[in-house]
Amino acid sequence: MSGPRPTVSWNIVGGCNYRCTYCVQKHMPGIGGPTDEQLEAALATLTALPGSWEFKISGGEPFMLKRLPEVAQRLAAAGHKVSLLTNLSAPLRVISTFIEAAGEQLRTFSCSLHREEVEEAEFFEKARAVKELLAKWPRATFVVNSVVVPGHVPEVAESRERFEGAGIKFYPQLMRVNGQPAKYGWVDRWRIDRAFGDMVSPSQINRGYQLKGRLCHAGSKYFIIHPKGDAFSCYPGKRFGDGHLGNIFDGTLRLWDAPNPCRYEVCPCTVPQNRGIIEGFGNSSGEGSHSF
Ligand code: SF4
Ligand code: SF4
Repeated sequence: MSGPRPTVSWNIVGGCNYRCTYCVQKHMPGIGGPTDEQLEAALATLTALPGSWEFKISGGEPFMLKRLPEVAQRLAAAGHKVSLLTNLSAPLRVISTFIEAAGEQLRTFSCSLHREEVEEAEFFEKARAVKELLAKWPRATFVVNSVVVPGHVPEVAESRERFEGAGIKFYPQLMRVNGQPAKYGWVDRWRIDRAFGDMVSPSQINRGYQLKGRLCHAGSKYFIIHPKGDAFSCYPGKRFGDGHLGNIFDGTLRLWDAPNPCRYEVCPCTVPQNRGIIEGFGNSSGEGSHSF
């Protein structure tokens, strides 16, 4: 057991320049990014968190926030670690500025391939360029994600071969609808098994797990932040409303001081699963039964 690694999933902006039909955020209409004042308040709260936290920054599309490199630099200067999830549409020059700003503190750089919006060949070349930029930072890891859209399993299977062939970690994301696994027909399920059946751990694929009753540090060593500044213990904690932890824009953030038994039927939260936040699960030890 390596113990929980404190992590924040920060949905820093709601807006996105893409319009993927399967987007779970539904592009968050009307929710842009923080104002300059809100961002200052957020950074004052977050840089002051005790210890070293990993900030997994996503959106929407996080590069919609022009001050993103500055956010990375300030979190890093406070001793925190910085990870990112992007659709990779930002210019390479801007991506490079972000990478340099996070520097030694950069950990996971994830990017998602959205075939509805970008040609795979173009994305592949850009991904290879980013991999080169990251080579300077030995603690940074690079991952390409792709949503397994029902009816499109063979394309994702081909992508896996292509990216893994170039030495890039590939992460197939099973689709979710309203927090539940999407309904795949039997042909898709058979193809998923054939293409990704060897990927069973939560660091390889996002199967949902039944972890109700397990002691979980979500709320104390893990939390998520919505673009409006509200913080929650985890995604089900937000969905059911019982995991509200205050707001980072108005100074009301209060974390819980101890782990609690999980109250939810299905855990879709890949970040805590992979960072030892759930006792006896994921990369700490053991496995739960998965619900896919
Ligand atoms: S890139 Fe991501 S956030 Fe943007 S529309 Fe597509 S799925 Fe949604
Ligand atoms: S759903 Fe997952 S992250 Fe949330 S409390 Fe349960 S085990 Fe923890």
